[in-house]
Amino acid sequence: MSDYNWCHGPSCHTRHTQDRIRGVKGSKVLRTRKIAINKWNSRGVWSLFCSQGCYNDFFHKYVNEIIAIAPRTECLETPIDVVVETREDWQGNPYKQKVIQAIDNA
Ligand SMILES: [Zn+2]
Repeated sequence: MSDYNWCHGPSCHTRHTQDRIRGVKGSKVLRTRKIAINKWNSRGVWSLFCSQGCYNDFFHKYVNEIIAIAPRTECLETPIDVVVETREDWQGNPYKQKVIQAIDNA
């Protein structure tokens, strides 16, 4: 396994930044950023994308393909209880607060 990835942003190589410039005078290019894999990014998306912008560009370009992996055809629901608790404000006055509590079905 290599110790770096090329950024997957579809427009990474078109952004005008100094660190993307490669080549000699007369044949310079803007190159896709190389991302070093390290202990902080090795298990996440930041080993694949150099910036939030490149991450967003990738998602917007491939959103239909990404959604096709796990399409949501119906809503999901989480069972809860809504409980009214009596609390005290900073002066010690009681007030009512609705609190959402998860129901543990395990
Ligand atoms: Zn990038």
